[in-house]
Amino acid sequence: MTNPLGSQQRPLRAAMIGSGPSGFYAAENLLHTKDMQVQVDMFEKLPAPFGLVRYGVAPDHPKIKNVTKIYEKVAEQKGFQFLGNVEVGRNISVDELRQFYDVIIFATGAEKDRKLGILGEDLPGCHTATEFVGWYNGHPDFREEIFDLSQPIVAIIGQGNVALDVARILGKSVDELKNTDIARHALEALAESKVKEIHIFGRRGPAQAAFTPVEIREFAEFADCNCIVKPQDLELNESSRKELEDPDNAVRKKNYEILLQLSQKKHEPKKRQIIFHFLKSPVEICGAKHLDKIIFEKNILVGNPGEQKARGSGEREEIRCDLLFKSVGYRGIPIKGLPFHDQWGIIPNQHGRVADSEQIYSGLYAVGWIKRGPTGVIGTNKPDAEETVKMIMEDLPHLRPCKTPDTEALKKLLQRYEIRVVSFADWKKIDAAEIERGKESGKPREKFVKVSGMLGAI
Ligand SMILES: Cc1cc2nc3c(=O)[nH]c(=O)nc-3n(C[C@H](O)[C@H](O)[C@H](O)COP(=O)(O)OP(=O)(O)OC[C@H]3O[C@@H](n4cnc5c(N)ncnc54)[C@H](O)[C@@H]3O)c2cc1C
Repeated sequence: MTNPLGSQQRPLRAAMIGSGPSGFYAAENLLHTKDMQVQVDMFEKLPAPFGLVRYGVAPDHPKIKNVTKIYEKVAEQKGFQFLGNVEVGRNISVDELRQFYDVIIFATGAEKDRKLGILGEDLPGCHTATEFVGWYNGHPDFREEIFDLSQPIVAIIGQGNVALDVARILGKSVDELKNTDIARHALEALAESKVKEIHIFGRRGPAQAAFTPVEIREFAEFADCNCIVKPQDLELNESSRKELEDPDNAVRKKNYEILLQLSQKKHEPKKRQIIFHFLKSPVEICGAKHLDKIIFEKNILVGNPGEQKARGSGEREEIRCDLLFKSVGYRGIPIKGLPFHDQWGIIPNQHGRVADSEQIYSGLYAVGWIKRGPTGVIGTNKPDAEETVKMIMEDLPHLRPCKTPDTEALKKLLQRYEIRVVSFADWKKIDAAEIERGKESGKPREKFVKVSGMLGAI
């Protein structure tokens, strides 16, 4: 008789694809499941773990990155292995992995930007927030990006927290950034920045803005940059007023109060300005060979409280600018061998079980942004991971055990493919080397921005 999956003799073997928050919360959950023996092997395409905590969270928000200490504790647990520098779908296929694992959990995040869907958005001078964020955070894929910061006017489309991150990094002085873990190349380029005006556009009104109070509050405090919110832009229609009275909208109410305070602020002249615009949608991005202006349509809000939609008023205005960052949401990247919901940019699933309209894909699961889309903060991935692990436990009696329950055999296969697998101990060496490199410039770390640099530090 064969040993049941999860028993001492035959631990459940889980491949976690992705090492961001959702991957670590799901791993922690699996390893802590009562009366279950589990082996979690976490695959990460980069040699460095932690996903957007390392490559998304802004460098001037170091406290948020402390969450990695929790993930390190998970990585130290018996039954956990990190296999960095392995991209699933490219270096090894999902089918191949199935031979070594009873379940595969996709925690691959949402790495691509949504498009605006308007004319001109791919003109030179137009960038995605992902490119800029990856660049200042030292992501190897974005090291070579070039942003023309010799331009005085920059537009940012979108008003979520990521758009605010982009505005803050552009608006802050070098002194405010130099002791963070911002990539050296970015700090050097920002030191030469000639940017004077940073315009942030939202299609809805100030009562519907998608940022959070902690993020917007910071805009009152920059050393060399004023934040301009025009009082007339804060006038609300009846439905918006009602929305803010709803106790469920406490966050939005707080946002609105902070915007009101910002609008009443008296400003000393400073080097830069960040200017908020509400109720404006871009309709065309113009330029012969390079972006030189954006045409917006003014919107009005229509509908009942809580259901208001932005509708074009027909009135247009334009802004001249040479640099644009689009920050209107993210979508996942399809992985060969898995279904993909193209419209939502996620792996289709039922509470974490990979499933399309025709079938449930036994043994395959999703968690985090690739499961639910790019919403919520780091902590939101915790309950999300609990749900996925619950589905795995419910399915356990019906799972087909893999043929080769052996990580060493898998590693041999990767070796044959000439993949240099990075272990967690290897990563700790990269980590230590980065911290050491940061010391001379008073930074918490100086990241390696090339994969070869990371591998060289091991
Ligand atoms: C710019 C930005 C700033 C943010 N700032 C904050 C903040 O300040 N505070 C906060 O609470 N939340 C913040 N968030 C949200 C938070 O980062 C997300 O909630 C969280 O990272 C989502 O976790 P995830 O594990 O689903 O995805 P991710 O963190 O994106 O992790 C996915 C991982 O999978 C890896 N991967 C992808 N494909 C493969 C593959 N085929 N094979 C192997 N590995 C693969 C990626 O390299 C990555 O490491 C921010 C998000 C962004 C975009």
